[in-house]
Amino acid sequence: MTKKIAKIEVDRDACIGAAPCVTVAPGVFQLDEENKAIIVDAKGADDDTITLAAESCPVQAIKLFDEDGEQIFP
Ligand code: SF4
Repeated sequence: MTKKIAKIEVDRDACIGAAPCVTVAPGVFQLDEENKAIIVDAKGADDDTITLAAESCPVQAIKLFDEDGEQIFP
């Protein structure tokens, strides 16, 4: 990925609590009491790790945006 990640969003309706995002980037994603992913620190991992976490989500609930507000994943 060449573009810098400026914003991360989790689609809570889509999230099924499968948690590979938490395994890949525990500094960024944690599960809340509803078993949905929340962002605890958007700077808690480098961009490659965050991208890997987003790619690991089985329902593509993690959306990544660059500094221009453009969606860069998925
Ligand atoms: S990997 Fe996707 S579905 Fe699983 S907890 Fe993370 S955001 Fe939710």
